[in-house]
Amino acid sequence: MTEEAPVDLRSDTVTRPGKGMYQAILDARVGDDVYGEDETVNRLEVAAARLLGKQSGLFLSSATQANLAAMLAHNARGEEILLGDCYHVYVSEAGGTSALGGIVLHPLATDEGGGLSIEQVVGAIKDDDPHHPITRTLALENTVSGRVQDPLRQAALATAVRERGLRVHLDGARIMNAAVALDVGAAEIASPFDSVMMCLSKGLGAPVGAVLCGSTEFIKRARRLRKQLGGGMRQAGILAACGLYALEHNIERLADDHERARLLAEGLGEIDDLPVRYETNMVFIEPTAADLEPLRRHLQQLGVEIGAQKPPLRLVTHLDIDDAGIDRAITAFHSFYRK
Ligand SMILES: *Cc1c(COP(=O)(O)O)cnc(C)c1O
Repeated sequence: MTEEAPVDLRSDTVTRPGKGMYQAILDARVGDDVYGEDETVNRLEVAAARLLGKQSGLFLSSATQANLAAMLAHNARGEEILLGDCYHVYVSEAGGTSALGGIVLHPLATDEGGGLSIEQVVGAIKDDDPHHPITRTLALENTVSGRVQDPLRQAALATAVRERGLRVHLDGARIMNAAVALDVGAAEIASPFDSVMMCLSKGLGAPVGAVLCGSTEFIKRARRLRKQLGGGMRQAGILAACGLYALEHNIERLADDHERARLLAEGLGEIDDLPVRYETNMVFIEPTAADLEPLRRHLQQLGVEIGAQKPPLRLVTHLDIDDAGIDRAITAFHSFYRK
C-alpha cells in the first residue's frame, strides 16, 4: 500500500469537504427549516432556482429523494411515467416511485447517446381508455452516464409531449457537467422542463443534498411530499451552507474534471486491447472478464480504486483527483498490462 491517499475513481460522490466548505458550515446562520426559518437553506433554494431559471427551489437530503418527491408531485397512483431504460429513476432508485407512489414506470430503449426520439415517446403515450394507466409524465436525464444531451432535442421532446398534456421532469443530477461541457447556462438546459433536480453531492462536492426546482405551486406540493417522506430537516443550513459554497466555487472547475477524464482516456487509450471512451467526467473501459479482478487488486495495491461494476467499467474524475492522481492511475494501469 502507498502512503498517499488513494486515487478513488469509483464515483464523483466520494469527495470530502475541504477547508473552505468546513468554514462555510461554521459561518452558516441556521434555524428550523421545517418552520421555514433556516436562512442558509432559504438562500440556497433561491440561488438554485435562479441558476436553473425556475420560480422556486427545495433542498432535499438526496437526489433520489428529490426525484421521488418530484415524481409523487407530478403523478397520482396508477399513473405512468415514460423514461429511458437506463435512467437512474428506473434503474437505481430501488423502485421507489412504484413502491411508495404506486406509479407505473414505462421504460423506453435509449439510443447510443442515451436519448429518446419523438416517435418513441409520443408513440408510448397511452390512449384514454379504462384499460390503461394514464400517461402523465416524461422524465429525461442530463447527463446520462456522463453523456451530454442536446438541449434542443430535449426541448423538442418536451414540446411534443406537453402538447399531449404530459408534464416533463429533468433528472439533472449532473446538469452542471452538461452546462459546463456545452458552455451554456444551466437555465437554458432546464427551460423546457416543469421540474428539474440538481445533485449537490456529485461533481459539485457537497457532502449531502440535492435541489428540486420548478414553479412555486409545484414546489409547495413537493415540500409537503418531502415531509411525508421523512425529509423535513431542522437546522439543515449546516448542509445547505456546503451546497451554497459548491455553487459559488465548484461549478466552473468541473471543466478540470472533464479535462482530466480526457487525459485519463488518452493515457489508457495507449494500452492494446483495452477499449476506452470518455464523456464529461467519466471514462469507460472494457477489460476482459478474466482481467477484471486481477486488475482491480493490482490497482488497489498501487492506491487506485475502481468500481465493482461489470464492464464497461466507469472511472470518474472529481474534486479530489488532481493531475498527479491521473498520472498515478495511468501508470498503475500500464504496469498491469505490461506484465
Ligand atoms: C446519483 C444520481 C441520482 C441520485 O443521487 P443519490 O445521491 O444517489 O440519491 C439521481 N439521478 C442521477 C442521474 C444520478 O446520477
